[in-house]
Order: sequence, then structure tokens, then C-alpha cells
Amino acid sequence: MHERIKQGVWCFKAPFGYLNARDSQNKAMIIFDKVRLPLIKLAFERFATGLYQIEQIRKTLNDKGFRTHKGRELSLQTLHELLREKFYIGIMTVKGQEYAGSHEKFIDERIFWQCQKLFRNADKGDCISLGRVNESFPLRHFVVCPHCGSPLTACFSTGKMGIKYPYYKCYNKKCGQLKSITKKEVETNFSLGLKKISFQPYMAKAVKKAIIEVYDERKNEIHSNFGSLKSQLENLKLEKDKLIEMKKKELLDDEDFREEMDKVKIMLSDKQERLLNCKDDGFDVKKNIDKVFDLMCDLPDFYEKADYATKLKVQSSIFKEKPSFNFYTFQTPRLSPILETKRDLANAKSRNVDPKRFELLASGLQSRRSNQLS
Ligand SMILES: [Zn+2]
Repeated sequence: MHERIKQGVWCFKAPFGYLNARDSQNKAMIIFDKVRLPLIKLAFERFATGLYQIEQIRKTLNDKGFRTHKGRELSLQTLHELLREKFYIGIMTVKGQEYAGSHEKFIDERIFWQCQKLFRNADKGDCISLGRVNESFPLRHFVVCPHCGSPLTACFSTGKMGIKYPYYKCYNKKCGQLKSITKKEVETNFSLGLKKISFQPYMAKAVKKAIIEVYDERKNEIHSNFGSLKSQLENLKLEKDKLIEMKKKELLDDEDFREEMDKVKIMLSDKQERLLNCKDDGFDVKKNIDKVFDLMCDLPDFYEKADYATKLKVQSSIFKEKPSFNFYTFQTPRLSPILETKRDLANAKSRNVDPKRFELLASGLQSRRSNQLS
């Protein structure tokens, strides 16, 4: 067996994402597990962003149907082990010794090492562990220190009278720039930050209008394409029948028939594919847009009322990068596209546009978009 291991062959139970199998000579080999593989990949990708807590990832995987070989849900412990498993980047570990595996990989090495870095940072944190979810601190690990860029950690400190005080502080012991800040201060300022990026109702109205215009335009375009594709498809089918008919009457020799038939078949499959792309996905933008913008006009309120899991979801969908906390303001490096658009518009507005002209600006955005489409 040692010889096989040296050759890079895994002789033990395959980690999740792979399955044990036998090759044609009945020798052990491992193959991709098409069911679990995409979920393992998702776990690595999400964890590497640093925006998701491991418990959140565990829940997502289980919700998406991840089950162990015994049909159980994925445990936190197993997920921890998975995310540290070097097998995914082609390294087999047997009795503490590492060997290069010959199995196919599906996790990007950069992503893997990014995950390990996050684990290391978490280990450095003094009063928390990565797996433990503390619902008192939705911003823990999410907001970073403005001085050193380390994620903020959070804990309760017990005062002289035995009262517990919740606070956030910088992870990095070498940093020392950011002293403990009370939970209230961080979270109130975060709320103010959300208020700043929320849409003002008149802005929402204009952007909504622009989105619906683009949406309608695109929908019409797809609709008219659909009609013409359908008739093209019918014509091609007729042509195919005609060819068969001609062949029967021996008006075509074998070679010509095959050549013509191949052409028709290629065109047919091309049109069929394009037709599939025109299919309505059933998502009604108009129905959902009001809900989305109501929420975006009042982010702080929505956030405050949300439960812990929703809070985390809102945080990671609004911010593309972790925001940093600078005592009184949150620096928000990158936001989701729709909020980026709003920020651009708001900046333009503060320079030279009054609210009345704002709609014009938004429709400018719309025409820019439709130019890209055509
Ligand atoms: Zn720091």
C-alpha cells in the first residue's frame, strides 16, 4: 500500500466531494462526487471572502441538501476539518507525512490558502472562536480596524460590580491603535453608515423608473426575437422534410444529401438553443422592485428589526468588501452594484444637480445602459 501512496494514489476513504471507486483493473481510485462537490466548492469560496461566518456556511450547505454518507447534516466540526483539508489542493496526508496526490483538484489553491489565513487570524483572536456564533455581535469579524485592517473581535468584559459590558476591539495585539469600543457605539455608527448609503425616496423613484424602462425594453426585444426565431425554426423543419423527400425521390445523391442535412441540423440546433435563451425565467422585476427599494430607502430600520441571520445576510449583500470602522464614520470601500450606482448619482447630485434634475440624470443612466444593450 505504501508504494501506491507514493505513486499518489489515495487508498483510504475519500473526503467529501470525492467518492471511492475502482478502475478497470479493479484498483482503488477516487472520482468526483457530483452531488457534494459544488457545495464543498461553495463553502471554500464563501469562507475565503471573509464575509461569512462558518456557522452561516454550514447552514447554507445543509439547506442546499448537503448530507453525510450516513444521511446526517454537516456538523460544524466536520466543516472546520473540510476547510483545512489539504487533499483538496492535491496533498495527501498519511500519518503526518505529506504526499503529492494524483487525484484531480477542484479547489483553487489561492482560495484554499486564503481560508487558512482566515483560520490563523481567527486563532489569534483572544476571546472568540470562529465556530462559535455570538448573536450579540452581528458586526464581529465583519468590520475591520482602520489602522491595521484586522477584523474586529467582540466580547463581554465584566466590570467591578459584576455587570457585563459588551464591546468590540481590534484583533491584532501588535496594532494597539484601536481601543475597545462599546457595542452601542459601533452599532449606532454602523446604522448611521447605513443611513448614508440608503436611497432617498426621490432617488429611488428615478432609479426604479430607469430600471423598469430598461427591463421593458429588454423584454420586448426578447419577445420579438422569440417570434422570429420560432418562424425560422419552422422553416428549417420544412427544409429538413423537403430534403428527406428529395432523397426518397432520388433527386439527391448520398453525399449531397448528407452535406445539406448537416447544414440544416447545425442551424436547427443553433436556433433551438437561442430559443431556450429567450425563455421567460418567471421573475417579475416590476413586482419585486418596490419591495427592494422600500428596503433600500430605509436600511437602518430594516437592519435594526432583522434577526441575527438576516443581519449577516444584509451585511454581506450590501458590502463587497469589509467596511472599516473609524470611530465616527464607516468607510465603505465597495458596495453592491445598485448602491454603487446610487453613490455615483448622489455624488453627481451634490456637485451640480438639484433634485428636479435628478430624474434626468437617472434617465441618462438608462440611455447609457440601452446603448450598451444594442
Ligand atoms: Zn488594529
